[in-house]
Amino acid sequence: MKQIQNYIGGELRSPESGHSLGNIDPATGETYSLVPDSDERDVDKAVTAATDAFSCWSTTPVDTRSQILHKIADAIDANVDRLAHAECVDSGKPLSLARSLEIPRAASNFRFFASAIVQSKSESHATDNVAINYTLRKPRGVAGLISPWNLPLYLFTWKVAPAIAFGNTAVAKPSEITPMTAYLFSQLCIEAGLPPGVLNVVHGTGAKAGAAIVSHPETTTISFTGGTVTGREIARVAAPMFKKIALELGGKNPNIIFADADLDEAIAGSLRSSFANQGQVCLCGSRIFVEQPVYDEFLTRFVEATKRLKVGDPLDEDTNQGALVSHIQRDKVLSYIDLAQEEGGTICCGGELPEYLPVRCRKGFFVSPTVITGLSVDARVNQEEIFGPVVTVTPFDSEKQVIDYANGVEYGLSASVWTKDVGRAHRVADRIEVGTVWINCWLVRDLRVPFGGMKQSGVGREGGEEAMRFFTEPKNVCIKIPYK
Ligand code: NDP
Repeated sequence: MKQIQNYIGGELRSPESGHSLGNIDPATGETYSLVPDSDERDVDKAVTAATDAFSCWSTTPVDTRSQILHKIADAIDANVDRLAHAECVDSGKPLSLARSLEIPRAASNFRFFASAIVQSKSESHATDNVAINYTLRKPRGVAGLISPWNLPLYLFTWKVAPAIAFGNTAVAKPSEITPMTAYLFSQLCIEAGLPPGVLNVVHGTGAKAGAAIVSHPETTTISFTGGTVTGREIARVAAPMFKKIALELGGKNPNIIFADADLDEAIAGSLRSSFANQGQVCLCGSRIFVEQPVYDEFLTRFVEATKRLKVGDPLDEDTNQGALVSHIQRDKVLSYIDLAQEEGGTICCGGELPEYLPVRCRKGFFVSPTVITGLSVDARVNQEEIFGPVVTVTPFDSEKQVIDYANGVEYGLSASVWTKDVGRAHRVADRIEVGTVWINCWLVRDLRVPFGGMKQSGVGREGGEEAMRFFTEPKNVCIKIPYK
């Protein structure tokens, strides 16, 4: 059985405990590899390696850093098939999705920040006839980077690339449920010539390895993507230590369809935003609101399209829906479908285990894509993040009402709005309390824009200049001008 290893000080190493955890293929329910069960001793070694590497890496010329990051991007591109296969087996998502979206995006993350650092600038202010102020942007030291299981390499590299591009060193922990791509990525970093200690990857549980990264006195900066409950715990530990924190947390995103929308596009877009990656994308639009005049037509056509999605072996090229990431996640999703019925909802399709699965997938963690109607907007199913292939569809009567519905949750990550009325598009976008609004599209990402959430969806922003601001410390230098 394949043994995953930590990547510390430029070497692949076993954990100090000598223990491993089973890594399960969610499509089969079988353990297929072993993950280091690392603890604070491994984290301490990783932080020491990162601290030792910092003075050299932070003063390495920007061009050299950029070239190494480009080499890593090239290495990801050259290994797309291998990485996509690993991600598919680790997470249960369709191979086609991993190959077309996630692995290429991991390469883009590196390429983007490799280019950004050679063009970054800092500010200068002339202060009357008295002084000039200029701002230096200094790397902050050792960054602790913690990422979730839903988009394993995509979100892992979204943190690693900017952290090291701007001259920090890093200790990163991928989710223990989906560790394989981060392990293969460690090997690519070695091949690409990343100096030892610049990136260290410690595998293991959040409770042990993750918590040790957050509480370690030498990690100055913590970038976390994951659930809101975990984010709260991380803030509780890191804030009193005055660490800089960015938290990208959960969502319960509205997907709003006005009666004047292009329904063909709205249905195709809603299908993606509901069920991409089995609904396990923080940006999925799990609450669909449809304006009354087109509600019946939308629902009929959307349910028909949902039933046509092929749930099956993630390795099959024509599979649209793979397995959920774990039996815990599967059981959580099924429990919300039961709750929807208790809350008075109607299951229009899905809600059960898929009927036909290949023999090798019979013990896998599958749930058919599920559409629910008839729930109040205050129902728990409409308020809590489910993070699975489950959406609710609710009619609305007016712009004001749907804005209230959209804002009536604790989360504020993203929203989609489908309309041909440009004025309304801008108005609604302005009034919805979220970090990103898509008009007539979903998940179109420009890596330059600030990315993050409002309310309980997070604190801080990532991407583009925001990443530069997060991973560097501004230092103001004020020079008095000796005018006579
Ligand atoms: P979790 O919060 O359970 O875990 C995220 C990461 O944190 C994992 O690596 C986990 O390790 C680790 N962790 C857990 N406990 C601690 C701790 N006390 N200290 C430090 N690290 C810890 O999230 P999931 O992995 O379940 O991911 C799903 C969640 O992520 C959803 O809520 C989703 O909305 C959110 N998400 C948000 C995004 C955004 O950009 N806003 C993007 C993608 C997902 P381990 O897995 O080993 O427990």
